[in-house]
Amino acid sequence: MREAALETPGRLIVDLARLDEDGEWYRGETSPEVLELGASEWLTPQGGIVYALFVQALGTELLVRGEVRQRLACVCARCADSFETEAVEPEFVASFEIPGEEAFMDLTEAVREAIILTLPSYPVCRDACRGLCQACGANLNRTACTCRREGRDSCWSALDVLE
Ligand SMILES: [Zn+2]
Ligand SMILES: [Zn+2]
Repeated sequence: MREAALETPGRLIVDLARLDEDGEWYRGETSPEVLELGASEWLTPQGGIVYALFVQALGTELLVRGEVRQRLACVCARCADSFETEAVEPEFVASFEIPGEEAFMDLTEAVREAIILTLPSYPVCRDACRGLCQACGANLNRTACTCRREGRDSCWSALDVLE
């Protein structure tokens, strides 16, 4: 197991033999490949998962708590602009059963899952993003296209006729 751990740099691995019995902070960053998102059209990880976790062995359990975060390049689902954001789980808590003979425990998967759960399914560049005009494709955050106004004008003129 020792060699296996050494062969996987960039993973979050706790060496139980060296873990301080009062617990210990693990701070670092996984390798960027850890957050495998597949073919996500909206999100691209920037760098690895950054963690600051307090790890403590209590009896046969390993308790882990702290914060994990991941920087992301995003494409806004409304206006298609690029923007950067950070997925953060500020209260990561997990416990793991310590297997009898193992010297190392790999927490990478647990940290990865915590980040996945915080990811937005439809990221938007800002809550007030106005998206694209469905008629002409203009980015309504930047330009006021005339499509809507024309639509409203014709609507009003129809009312004028009724009056
Ligand atoms: Zn947007
Ligand atoms: Zn338009």
